Amino acid sequence: MNLTKQYPKIELAFLPTPLVYAENLTKLLKGPEIFIKCDNCTGLALGGNKTRKLEYILADALAKKADVIITIGGLQSNWARQTAAAARKIGLRVILVLNGEKPEEYQGNLLLDHLLGCEIRFKPYTDEEEQKEEAGETPITGEIAEEILRVGQVPYIIPLGGCNPLGNLGYISAIEELKLQSEEKNIHFDYIVSAVGTGGTQAGIELGLRLFKMDCKGLGISISRHIKPKSQEIADLCNQTIKDLNFECKAFSPEEILINYDYIGEGYAIPTMDGIKAIYTLAQTEGIILDPVYTGKAMAGMIDLIKKNYFKKDENILFLHTGGEVANFAYNKMFL
Ligand SMILES: *Cc1c(COP(=O)(O)O)cnc(C)c1O
Repeated sequence: MNLTKQYPKIELAFLPTPLVYAENLTKLLKGPEIFIKCDNCTGLALGGNKTRKLEYILADALAKKADVIITIGGLQSNWARQTAAAARKIGLRVILVLNGEKPEEYQGNLLLDHLLGCEIRFKPYTDEEEQKEEAGETPITGEIAEEILRVGQVPYIIPLGGCNPLGNLGYISAIEELKLQSEEKNIHFDYIVSAVGTGGTQAGIELGLRLFKMDCKGLGISISRHIKPKSQEIADLCNQTIKDLNFECKAFSPEEILINYDYIGEGYAIPTMDGIKAIYTLAQTEGIILDPVYTGKAMAGMIDLIKKNYFKKDENILFLHTGGEVANFAYNKMFL
């Protein structure tokens, strides 16, 4: 079934991403076998999970003859950085609205945004505005789109995190890729553990597992607080995608989406002690670098759940490394 091949995409990512056995971490934790899917290695401007979504979203932008890509994110947004890189690769202008005041020093993702030559607008925005942008309303990016229209160019707004049905195709096809890899290596995965931000990645994973009939559960570790439970939002997003893209697939209910909220700490982009510890652990066992905002917290959650015997010892767990390492440079004081 070449399900995702029927949708236009542009090739941006280095695929397939590596699937590695985390032997030392597995031994250290004495629990289930742990594997890591390295989506931090998707390539473009140091990679990450958003590149897969952008392959489909930017194909749509090209079809709509866009001149300027507009999106928003935090000052250390991996999403903004990957969007900027992808847009440059296909020759488009990029405007990023970043949440905050212009810092004195450019580090991490922001430094890369600068190198990528995108137009950065620093603008503090509220959580409420952000939630609207995530839902595809455009209280902030809409104004910029009007400005672009006034100069006779075509704007294309992408919601925060690329969280929409087209973006979901990125992780649906990632599951297709994983299925082939697991068949080749003859491994059956029981769980896919990943960090949940907007929830688009998890939505793609859930859809992929169902569409490609894989007997495996998604387990999302939430890294930020939200008004609505994430499982509801992700089920809604899955169902919207089924409808918009005409998939033959049973609808999702929130109870089917596993999300853990125990490892968020104080909130989005505020590192936790255990998250920092998990970064050290992965670096020193596997030579793999995680990040303080997403994968560090998700890994801390997975490690704690292993210690609490959430998984059976004979199960195989796949940790999806969604990237974000670049942010470590902006958080360097947390480590000293
Ligand atoms: C954006 C991001 C996530 C979360 O992905 P969503 O699709 O927004 O849930 C996880 N890890 C990293 C490193 C990210 O940049």
